[in-house]
Amino acid sequence: MSTFKAPKGTYDLLPPDSAKFLAVREAIAAPLRGSGYGYIETPGFENVELFARGVGESTDIVTKEMYAFETKGGDRLALRPEGTASVLRAALEANLHKTGNLPVKLWYSGSYYRYERPQKGRYRHFSQVGAEAIGAEDPALDAELIILADQAYRSLGLRNFRILLNSLGDKECRPVYREALQTFLRGLDLDEDTLRRAEINPLRVLDDKRESVQKQLGGAPLLRDYLCDACKAYHEEVRELVTAAGVVFEDDPKLVRGLDYYTRTTFEFVHDGLGSQSAVGGGGRYDGLSEMIGGPALPSVGWALGVDRTVLALEAEGVELELPATTSVFAVPLGDEARRVLFAKVTELRKNGVAADFAFGGKGLKAAMKAANRSGARYALVLGERDIEQGVVQLKDMESGEQTAVGMNEIVAELESRLG
Ligand code: ATP
Ligand code: MG
Repeated sequence: MSTFKAPKGTYDLLPPDSAKFLAVREAIAAPLRGSGYGYIETPGFENVELFARGVGESTDIVTKEMYAFETKGGDRLALRPEGTASVLRAALEANLHKTGNLPVKLWYSGSYYRYERPQKGRYRHFSQVGAEAIGAEDPALDAELIILADQAYRSLGLRNFRILLNSLGDKECRPVYREALQTFLRGLDLDEDTLRRAEINPLRVLDDKRESVQKQLGGAPLLRDYLCDACKAYHEEVRELVTAAGVVFEDDPKLVRGLDYYTRTTFEFVHDGLGSQSAVGGGGRYDGLSEMIGGPALPSVGWALGVDRTVLALEAEGVELELPATTSVFAVPLGDEARRVLFAKVTELRKNGVAADFAFGGKGLKAAMKAANRSGARYALVLGERDIEQGVVQLKDMESGEQTAVGMNEIVAELESRLG
């Protein structure tokens, strides 16, 4: 063991478990790719101001969780804590919104960083797949994203997740609600920090996870009683479209999210097998974000799904993903001449699309067959001196144990046909 360990709050993805992460990313991306979303990749760090303005000065993400630093050149940067602000920044910078083809639909996948208290399902480095639809105000777009996330989770075999839905109103009705909520919160028995939060961002108090706070919020005014007619109609249409798609959701009038940019539609995907880190993904509409970061008005909607927690959710439900075997054929050479011949065959198999591996390191027959077993390969190819003389190779079916000699020139075609 080396003297170094993975930093606190991080972990390494190692085979064979790492295959699950790839499969989860792929399962989330597939419905997006099939729905007009183009892939975007942005840097792992951004100007710190982008997040301060975009995510919100008073949010936990910006005040406590951001890895901000100054470079040797004096730039103030931060490791990205989330994806939306970066994606919007990139889209604006490249003028994607001016191509006359709105909404701009983008998806991404990558690492995010938050200085959090590490717990199961809460890490300092984690991974998300996200989607953003920029520049259109259309309830069908909100519905599309909710439906696609549902489809992604279901394609993985997840069942015990719930979709929580709410509307946060817009710049017309939210300020009125904000006032009402603030008045209510001022009358509660709250600690100083929470009271301060109630002044800066009262909606966030609704999201306080502490029992002592939650039990005082029973009589809090609810946003849905304050929504303006436009927001009400918009929300009703989102609900109808999602329902018509056969996707079940729960109205959660207290749902708010930990980022300041959300307006109108807000949703969260929660899994009941994860204990307190129950959110596997979340998102919503962010009609004001573009202007907050210096762009034009671009109503938009998006989500980000956590890959780490989705994997935990699969484990909690006991879902075994059908992962394709990584190696189909494992080659075992006996002797130097066999090594050369068989290595060339392995290369040929690979070029023909057959996943093949080789007993490296000059192993003896016993150790090499053990390696073949461990690889999960369906077939082993064994080549000895006498086989070379006879122009054949031994093809061993690892399931039945049956072994047959196949002509050296026929083996690639034989394996291709056997592996279908
Ligand atoms: P939470 O309420 O659990 O802190 P959040 O609201 O901060 O979550 P978002 O910013 O909406 O989370 O991120 C979307 C998803 O990314 C979450 O639902 C979760 O699956 C995942 N995620 C967020 N923070 C972490 C983390 N520190 N470790 C692992 N996954 C995370
Ligand atoms: Mg959080």
